[in-house]
Amino acid sequence: MKWRGRQRSTNVEDRRGAGGGLGGGFNPFGRTAGTGGPRIQIPTGGGGIGGIGLVIVIALIGMAVFGINPLALLGGNVVPGGGAGTGSSTQGQPLPEAGQDELADFVAVVMKETENLWTEVFAQSGDTYAPPVLILFSGQTEGGCGVADARTGPFYCPVDQRVYIDLSFYEQLRRQFGAPGDFAQAYVLAHEVGHHVQNLTGVLPEFNRARAAMSETEANAYSVRVELQADCYAGVWANFVGQANLLESGDIEEAINAANQIGDDTLQERMQGFAVPKTFNHGTSAQRKAWFQRGYSTADVGQCDTFSVAQP
Ligand SMILES: [Zn+2]
Repeated sequence: MKWRGRQRSTNVEDRRGAGGGLGGGFNPFGRTAGTGGPRIQIPTGGGGIGGIGLVIVIALIGMAVFGINPLALLGGNVVPGGGAGTGSSTQGQPLPEAGQDELADFVAVVMKETENLWTEVFAQSGDTYAPPVLILFSGQTEGGCGVADARTGPFYCPVDQRVYIDLSFYEQLRRQFGAPGDFAQAYVLAHEVGHHVQNLTGVLPEFNRARAAMSETEANAYSVRVELQADCYAGVWANFVGQANLLESGDIEEAINAANQIGDDTLQERMQGFAVPKTFNHGTSAQRKAWFQRGYSTADVGQCDTFSVAQP
């Protein structure tokens, strides 16, 4: 992506370690910098994990690949409405000046481009887009959905309307998930911003309300539709930056590869050797690719209605 020199979003808060570098912060879990990034733990059925521990582990898996914070979903602790920035104290600082920190510059430019798209889309229906705040942290940080932990991957918290990311996730995305490239990284953020849009449009609050009465399997199927819509929105965003001539050769392929690598079936087969479809909550690789491409090829958020199709 041709992002250099582009305007950065001002809605980015830096809570990384004092040094500002990856892994520079205090990490109570003892993960040292440069040792391969966050781990994803899976229940093995071999005992030792039960009750609430199991719930938490499943929740962590659920959010491992940039979902909505399921702890907030499980707790029903979602505050509908409320402006961005409500709900928790500011612990961070503005980003370093442009040119000091390449990855921070990159994510801030991506966020700005999402603001440009969604401001335009909301304006078309006479609405004003209130962007989320992106929180950069290292290790752990406190937020409206509880403690954000690097091990769980990036997520959107509807309670405080913030996107949380430990930038070391991008190393994990590249190495562990086999999804290299700056546009794979951009796709991650655009997907999370998609969840923020869903929060504003009411899709997310409705999901949280409805899932309380659902079985786990039903809620997973509903979650898939929510996630695929966020993928479609990320595709619309990719088209938008393409129209601004910011795409480089290979960018779209990077995003599609990322969507493929983080499909539920692909992830489960990699992690445990087999896939259990009723546990899918983000969508299969084929679904994620298809909805990203649908958004990308149509450039129309109206084409991202994953809820009215029989099979997304
Ligand atoms: Zn998601």
